[in-house]
Amino acid sequence: MKNLDCNNKRILIVDDQASVRNFLREILAAKYHCEMVSSAEEALEILKTDYFNLVLSDIEMGKMSGIELVSQTHNSLPDTVFVMISGNQDIEDAVESMRVGAFDYIKKPFNIDQIEIAIERALNHQSLLFSKHQYENHLEELVKIRTEELNYISNYDVLTELPNRNLFEDRLSQALSHVNYNRKNLAILRISLDQLKNVFDVFGQCNGNALLKEAAKRLKNFIFEGVTVARFEGNEFGVMLSQINGTEEVVEFTKKIMDSLNQPFLIESNQIFVPFSIGISLFPNDGGDAETLLKNAGIALTRSREEERSGYQFFTTEMNSFAQKRMEMEMDLRHALERNEFEVYYQPKLCTKNRKIIGMEALVRWNRPDSTFVSPAEFIPLAEETGLIIPIGEWVLRTACKQLKEWEDEGFSPLIVSVNLSAQQFHQPDLLEVIKDIIKETKINPNNLELELTESSILKNKSKVIGILDELKRIGVKISIDDFGTGYSSLSYLKRLPLDILKIDKSFIQDMTISPDEASLVMTIISLAHNLGLKVIAEGVETEEQLRFLHLLRCDGWQGYLFSKPVTAKLFRELLIENSQENTTAWQLDFFRSNLPREMAEIHCSGF
Ligand code: C2E
Ligand code: MG
Ligand code: MG
Repeated sequence: MKNLDCNNKRILIVDDQASVRNFLREILAAKYHCEMVSSAEEALEILKTDYFNLVLSDIEMGKMSGIELVSQTHNSLPDTVFVMISGNQDIEDAVESMRVGAFDYIKKPFNIDQIEIAIERALNHQSLLFSKHQYENHLEELVKIRTEELNYISNYDVLTELPNRNLFEDRLSQALSHVNYNRKNLAILRISLDQLKNVFDVFGQCNGNALLKEAAKRLKNFIFEGVTVARFEGNEFGVMLSQINGTEEVVEFTKKIMDSLNQPFLIESNQIFVPFSIGISLFPNDGGDAETLLKNAGIALTRSREEERSGYQFFTTEMNSFAQKRMEMEMDLRHALERNEFEVYYQPKLCTKNRKIIGMEALVRWNRPDSTFVSPAEFIPLAEETGLIIPIGEWVLRTACKQLKEWEDEGFSPLIVSVNLSAQQFHQPDLLEVIKDIIKETKINPNNLELELTESSILKNKSKVIGILDELKRIGVKISIDDFGTGYSSLSYLKRLPLDILKIDKSFIQDMTISPDEASLVMTIISLAHNLGLKVIAEGVETEEQLRFLHLLRCDGWQGYLFSKPVTAKLFRELLIENSQENTTAWQLDFFRSNLPREMAEIHCSGF
């Protein structure tokens, strides 16, 4: 073991003459720890195990000389200095030993002062050397650590400690050369945790990250030979199965992943179910290189996201043309406004008590030049992605307000027009000015305008949201929450916002007459909303049975195909005329005479 204690300097005296060794030790032992050996060979041995700050060595010593000792050990002992003892006759050898690495030499006959000075100087030099090497070692260590860190960052995701896309692509390329050779198949799965953004908005960054880590942990359970799991950007993970024999194996594997992700995530003692989508591409059918396979798994993922439920989609060539069509649609959408291709349809909203039209929801329609029908559920998300929703939304708002004014001027009883506002629109900086300008320009009564917001719009940046809503309330505009129940907002949060109306999503309405659970959920939403002073509108009412049940629950209003689909302004006007002439009393009698299904009546009785 080397002794690295710098305060107690260690000197090795090497000389074949005992008198010289003893003399030197006598001079130096008071200040330093001294060891003595009588030959260069012995010195070599002891230097292998013991550390010395300084070696004070004779040059001429029987077999091995001091010069050889220096040249053999100097490189391996960078923190040891060598001082040579030279007689007059070997002064040239002393110079030679300095050439091979000795620091200094002391001439015989000895002068005690000179020895002390030379030793001190040599030891000072040794201290400097030692510090320099320590510094260099430290620096080297730091560089090593930094390099490892950089390597890690460029290949791994720090949050989940999974390989990142970079490393995944590398491994995929390697695996591809292997499967090519092995004639095996390979599958790529791209998995996205959908609505993760909402989780971040509602529960904060820390909880969002914890959820991502938990998802990564679940996916790590699937790592075994031939499987690589990676985290791509944001909410996406990638899995590579490199040793597969056929599609069934991929399906089986995917189902296991789905079972695992379908388990709830625990956030602040809330059980959260996070929807997910999976897109799959297979080698060699869907591509021969990493880039194509990843792209096609991505296309399958986009398709899978469009499904309502969490699930998976294998890539198909039709999807490729679908992606192509989507690109074309984006190009067309960019020109749709200037080409006047949009039209606003209106769906009546009715009072639950008397079936009178109380207003209408403005729903945009796009008449594409090739006359293909594109549902707003398809082009609105695209408009949001491209930012086109801002001008389109403004156009819808202006058109709907103008239309409202026209019907008012014609003498129809006051109606409320509701216009959908996407999250992006709601967060645009000049939203309030745009709304105020349109109200002014179209001369409508702001009390007759309702803006429908989604839950996700109001979850982000809560204090700003309250500011905007307060200002809208101040000018008289009504606010409703659309598709309530599909997001993560809670009624207790909504309580803090100046809202007017809650629109229950059609999925609940459609299931409520077949599922008692759904029925009691609708009932709870309605009664809690009423307690908060909000009116409730049911969306997607398609049957009399649903309507009767809503009536019993004292739901304030409804809209749905039972009365009318969204229609053009012209047809809506006809509906208005018809509805104003309809004998509601007759309808009401008929409505109440019919019997409710027994289980619904039971829910009603136990609930109120
Ligand atoms: P939303 O605001 O929840 O609109 C209601 C949707 O439900 C409409 O679909 C409507 O046609 C449909 N619906 C109404 N009654 C029934 C029914 O009884 N059964 C069924 N199955 N469906 C019914 P639409 O017009 O296809 O619009 C879909 C979504 O697109 C809207 O959902 C809204 O989120 C969005 N959207 C439509 N127009 C606009 C717009 O001008 N701006 C923005 N930002 N979004 C819009
Ligand atoms: Mg709506
Ligand atoms: Mg809705």
